[in-house]
Parts: sequence; C-alpha cells; structure tokens
Amino acid sequence: MDTGPRGRKDTRLIKEKRNDAYKCKDKLPDFAHCANCGATFVGGRWTWAAPDPAKTKVICPACQRCADNFPAGYVEMKGDFFDKHRAEIISLSRNIENQEREPHPMERIMAIHEAEDHTLLTTTGVHLARRIGDALAQSFKGTYAFHYADGEQKIRVYWER
Ligand SMILES: [Zn+2]
Repeated sequence: MDTGPRGRKDTRLIKEKRNDAYKCKDKLPDFAHCANCGATFVGGRWTWAAPDPAKTKVICPACQRCADNFPAGYVEMKGDFFDKHRAEIISLSRNIENQEREPHPMERIMAIHEAEDHTLLTTTGVHLARRIGDALAQSFKGTYAFHYADGEQKIRVYWER
C-alpha cells in the first residue's frame, strides 16, 4: 500500500498548502493580536494575554475559519436519546468549549446545524471536536466513532444514541 516517498510527499504538499491559510506560525511578531477576537500570539502560540496595541493586527486562524466557513472539526449527533436530551447534550458541548477556550484560544464551536436526520456541530480545531466526542461517550455511552483526515488537520466525529 506504500506509494513511496515521492507519492506521499506530493500528497502532503497539496494538503499543507490548503491548511496553510490557517497557520499564521513563524512570521508573526510577539503580541500580534487578532482584530476580531483579541487573541494574542506570544512565543509561537495563541493565548489570551493582553495584546500590545502598538503591535501588528491580524485575523487569527479561528476567526479566519469562521469567516471562510471552513471547519476543522465536524461532530455528527443523532438518535432518539439525543432528540430527547438535546438541550443537555448541547449544553455539555458548550461547557467543553468553555473549558478549552482558556488554554486553547483557537479551539471554538463554529456553528450548530440541524440536518434532516442529525445535528451537526462544527469546530475551529480538531482537538475540541474530539473532546466533545469523548465527553458524550463518557457521559451518555452510545455509539462513538471518529476519523482524522488531511494529515490530522480535520476530524469527523460520529455519536449516536
Ligand atoms: Zn480571532
């Protein structure tokens, strides 16, 4: 199944190019901050440290993903139990987001969509989607599965009960 180093590298390059838009990484100076949410880039990572108003204003990857409607995480929830306990389950998901937001400013819930046979919650980061899936399975049991794509820059989570 190994396509060889060259084949893999080519695939990876294409994927990295697409996700590059959401990784400000190397070029930003310390205390650059997002003009939209105020997250601040310090020492190579995003924090909620107070921004220095004199420093560069940018749009952080999480705000950019929301503006582009380009989620990193998809959590699909469905089932009779879900329908009956929807408010409680969404509220648990929001609590997880609130816990993650402080240490990980780039992990946010983007939107919650109602589809015909499921509810789809989207996130700006793969970590949050996975945490929500883990929490649903831990709190409510049910059927839980997830898979990563794009070199782990995307995740799809399925939970049903
Ligand atoms: Zn932002």
